[in-house]
Amino acid sequence: MSNLHEECGVFGIYDFDGKDVASTVYYGLFALQHRGQESCGIVVCEDGMFYSHKDMGLVNDVFDDLTMKSFPEASMAVGHVRYGTTGGTNRTNCQPIVVNHQKGKMAVAHNGNISNAYELRNELELSGGIFHTTSDTEIIAYIITRERLVNTSIENAVLESMNVLDGAYSLVIMSATKLIAARDPRGFRPLCYGERSDGTYIVASESCALDAVGAKFVRDILPGEVVVFDDNGITSYTKHCNTKEKKTCIFEYIYFARPDSVIDNVSVHTARQKAGMILARKDHIKADVVVGVPDSGLDAALGYSKESKIPYGIGFIKNKYIGRTFIAPKQEERIDKVRIKLNPVKETVEGKVVVLVDDSIVRGTTSGQIVKLLRDAGAKEIHVRISASQFVNPCYYGTDIDSRENLISCHHSIDEIAKIIGADSLMFLENDELCELIGNNNYCAACFDGKYPTAIPNTKKNRFEMPLSKRQDK
Ligand code: SF4
Repeated sequence: MSNLHEECGVFGIYDFDGKDVASTVYYGLFALQHRGQESCGIVVCEDGMFYSHKDMGLVNDVFDDLTMKSFPEASMAVGHVRYGTTGGTNRTNCQPIVVNHQKGKMAVAHNGNISNAYELRNELELSGGIFHTTSDTEIIAYIITRERLVNTSIENAVLESMNVLDGAYSLVIMSATKLIAARDPRGFRPLCYGERSDGTYIVASESCALDAVGAKFVRDILPGEVVVFDDNGITSYTKHCNTKEKKTCIFEYIYFARPDSVIDNVSVHTARQKAGMILARKDHIKADVVVGVPDSGLDAALGYSKESKIPYGIGFIKNKYIGRTFIAPKQEERIDKVRIKLNPVKETVEGKVVVLVDDSIVRGTTSGQIVKLLRDAGAKEIHVRISASQFVNPCYYGTDIDSRENLISCHHSIDEIAKIIGADSLMFLENDELCELIGNNNYCAACFDGKYPTAIPNTKKNRFEMPLSKRQDK
């Protein structure tokens, strides 16, 4: 409910027996749908031929029975769900991107944002490069292709490309004979692989997608690692591992990832519970009930309740059938957008002092509407507790936290924000408490603390929609 969008989800399968791999990708993408709802796509490789279908919309809308039957039985496939953070929202930017080059074919699915996209694309365009899309993924595909022409294998091309690419990229790449998983040296975005009992390998953004297709989690792809799946089994390349400090996005744990996923050996559900527990430990409110804002506030609310011994209650029922593509009511329709998505449970909150736990406050508008829902349902006092620190900086690594102007914490004190959203009190986590969520300091929290792990990129979501001469301003 926080007005933030996830980035993307990637999925790949290597099946020695060559069966209906497209269906597995379809179910895997379903499990990753929370990471991107704008568009999705599947590319299947059968005997060196690529069969692709991608379009705008949710997995369920883009793939019907007929489309799924059109995919051949095959041994490899890759899939992608997208929320665009570089490049416009249109069919051209759907992924996976397929490239035909002198040495064959390649499909690329990408999660993250490369931070030197602006410089790389300018350089490529000025040397005659032609781009079909406005996303940074095509830049990655271009660089890998360029390297492939002078390298003996696709994996060497990927390894060489990693010398050039900077920023966040978790990639699943498919050639005519290989499936490749690559994670940037800082490991901003998650990426893992698993195995089915029949020996089929699955690569996915999150472990919840492995569970969904019956694969056993094997391990996370290490930051900087390239893993190749082919007829010889698995080969790992660690040339880029430990070349940069690990900086996994802390907000994956707080909001983006599914709570049933495990990222780099830390359960997302546990991390969220811990966030709630930290809030409870430093709080002195004598409340009657703790409620969470669905979905990502629920685990933290449970943690708060456990630690404080204040009973946990179901504060809201969320309409499960509303996706991101939901058409918001016009102002003259006098219909409350938030009320369509969430309905408060009066019995839980009426006449009570309520602790309301949510994952973040961005502009404050949605938080204000949620607080009002509880007030209208009869809550006596509402104390808002946020299981993250305050957003004060944009993110350049694959999310849409993009402008200080829109971040309420950049313009108001905590007491002022409480007043604006109509809460009786408000509390955030402190930056130095975030490490407790995952038990180490190897994370990026730049949107909270301004400590960017890379140079600050010269990039904006729609920058590549413009000709080169108009892309100059920061
Ligand atoms: S800036 Fe924030 S959202 Fe972006 S990668 Fe870092 S922690 Fe995650």
